Amino acid sequence: MSMRVVVPKENRAGERRVALVPEAVARLVKQGLAVHVERGAGQAAWFADEHYAEAGAVVETDAAALWGRAGVLCKVQPPTEAEVDLLPEGAVLVGFLQAHRHPEVIRRLQARRVTAFAMERVPRITRAQSMDALSSQATVAGYKGTLMAAELCQRFFPMLTTAAGTIRPARVLVLGAGVAGLQAIATARRLGAVVEAYDVRHAAREQVESLGAKFLQVELDAEAEGGYARELTEEEKQREQALLWRSVEEADVVITTAQIPGRDAPRLITTRMVETMKPGAVVVDLAAESGGNCELTVPGERIQHGQVTVFGPVNLPSALAVHASEMYARNISNFIALFCADASEGAAGSAPAFDWEDEILAASVVTHGGEIRNAAIREQMAGGQS
Ligand code: NAD
Repeated sequence: MSMRVVVPKENRAGERRVALVPEAVARLVKQGLAVHVERGAGQAAWFADEHYAEAGAVVETDAAALWGRAGVLCKVQPPTEAEVDLLPEGAVLVGFLQAHRHPEVIRRLQARRVTAFAMERVPRITRAQSMDALSSQATVAGYKGTLMAAELCQRFFPMLTTAAGTIRPARVLVLGAGVAGLQAIATARRLGAVVEAYDVRHAAREQVESLGAKFLQVELDAEAEGGYARELTEEEKQREQALLWRSVEEADVVITTAQIPGRDAPRLITTRMVETMKPGAVVVDLAAESGGNCELTVPGERIQHGQVTVFGPVNLPSALAVHASEMYARNISNFIALFCADASEGAAGSAPAFDWEDEILAASVVTHGGEIRNAAIREQMAGGQS
């Protein structure tokens, strides 16, 4: 009997994505896996049940039965506690888990002896690039966030020479030049804006310039382990704000994407800075969900502060559900191939085989065999209990 891969419908509010799209299902079925999909699982992302069936999936109506017979369950959002209780012992769960936000779910996964992998913990190494869901979804967020900024902006992005006069291009400032920031820069450039960008990592400079944007130089380099940024000292923060102030004042649009793993997003734009912005200027804060880069950001809200609009969108990838799902499905199917033995030879076995020497599996596993395998999460949960 082949291993059963299960795709339920996402039930968290506002989530339109689906973990596997029909094209990914077809590949898994070809590799010898049995794929079962909940009726309507892809509907919000415009993937019809018929297309899943054509791809070789069994479409099921009874969600509880689907969860109850899962071998490998593929999710986008973390499951609820009640959903975890439906899983058979020893099942595998793959998806974004956000353990710090959902400790109770992690405890249930542990109690049910589920092997749970967190896609956000896949290491940023070359071999794992095809499984890097943080990058694929950040690409979507950078693109969509820029379009939303263009929509809110009362000015053209491109320079236009028309019979009604010449229009100067919009000035867009992008703060944080990781995956989302670079995509925001590329998108704003494609729309014709003049773009400036800033990151605390010097390594970002070349990438920013290669996209045709100007890099703002601050005399500090805060690159830390794994290519991520570290938190700045108070003195560094002051220097950073002083440098950014002038560019913020001159911008028509500011798109912020700065994040520090495991911490609140750094505060880059104060209320006073917003108050010196041009009338009609727009701030789109892509770090809204982790505390915001702008002091005025309210997650999920669009607020008007004086003459400036500050928007803190949440779950942007869901707003581009078709391609976000396609990219995520690629990440997920590449990931599960790591433990579906012989999948590539078309002879997938009925039980997953985990090689804990594999650094991708070792870094992303959260629970296995009734234990919390991730030391940081274990400590955090122990702290929460005391
Ligand atoms: P992220 O989402 O953690 O943060 C976004 C950006 O914010 C980062 O570039 C970070 O340097 C920047 N930032 C943090 N504090 C800041 C501050 N105070 N002011 C300005 N900017 C600030 O980053 P990410 O997009 O996940 O990328 C993190 C790193 O991982 C980058 O070095 C990226 O190139 C690297 N990466 C590597 C791979 C790979 O090799 N497979 C894949 C993706 C990303």
